Amino acid sequence: MSGDPLANGRLLVLTYHRVAEPPPGSPLRGLYVTPAQFAWQLAQLARGGARVLTLRDLATEPDDAAGGHRPGAPRVVLTFDDGTVDIFQHAYPLLRWFGFPAVIFPVVDDIGKSRVVWAHSADPSPVDLLSAGQLAAMAEDGFEIGAHMLHHVPATSLPRQVLLEEMSDARRRLAALLGGEVFSVAYPYGDYDERVVRAAAAAGFRYGVTTDPGMVQDRGPLQLRRMAVKGTRWYHRLQYLALLRRHLRIAAS
Ligand SMILES: [Zn+2]
Repeated sequence: MSGDPLANGRLLVLTYHRVAEPPPGSPLRGLYVTPAQFAWQLAQLARGGARVLTLRDLATEPDDAAGGHRPGAPRVVLTFDDGTVDIFQHAYPLLRWFGFPAVIFPVVDDIGKSRVVWAHSADPSPVDLLSAGQLAAMAEDGFEIGAHMLHHVPATSLPRQVLLEEMSDARRRLAALLGGEVFSVAYPYGDYDERVVRAAAAAGFRYGVTTDPGMVQDRGPLQLRRMAVKGTRWYHRLQYLALLRRHLRIAAS
């Protein structure tokens, strides 16, 4: 097999935001997966024999055979943007039950606060965001904590110096808060360009995730593609099964 961990077998990165019941009539309904749907989605991965890993694992243990997984097993990275407390309340217990790690991307300056994350959306209500203690507990369980930058702002609109600080301060503050190296960044709103990628690299990030859909293999490590997962409508179950079948050749049920 190739020494490139991105090319080494099929690899799919999934994007989640909220794992909770969406408030009735919420304009941000598309960001929600219900806890019941999430449990069902994890069961499909387990049943299909997927190896669920973190981005950090790609950097530190690129060998598919590590951990007793068969070479070429479909690999899945579960990522959570924004770092809302429902991740700790609903997703974390289910992930632990299945023995799956995940990558959490909190907005570093918002950790432990109640904030309006999607500033320009139709729903301006503040949401409770993960605390340092909750992030530390998940990190201790093998979860990877990456940065959703320092603030939830579109990166391409930032002046050069501000962009560099957004990246490097986010990485430095998160490392100081939780200890250890911070490997990954998620670009807010999926907004990135060559300049943003260079700033992420200069800050020391190894992996960067976008919202461009697809498998990751055709991209550099700081422009990884992801597939967004939804769960609140009846047809999302069919969409998820099609996703696993198409990208991982997992025939789930
Ligand atoms: Zn976000």
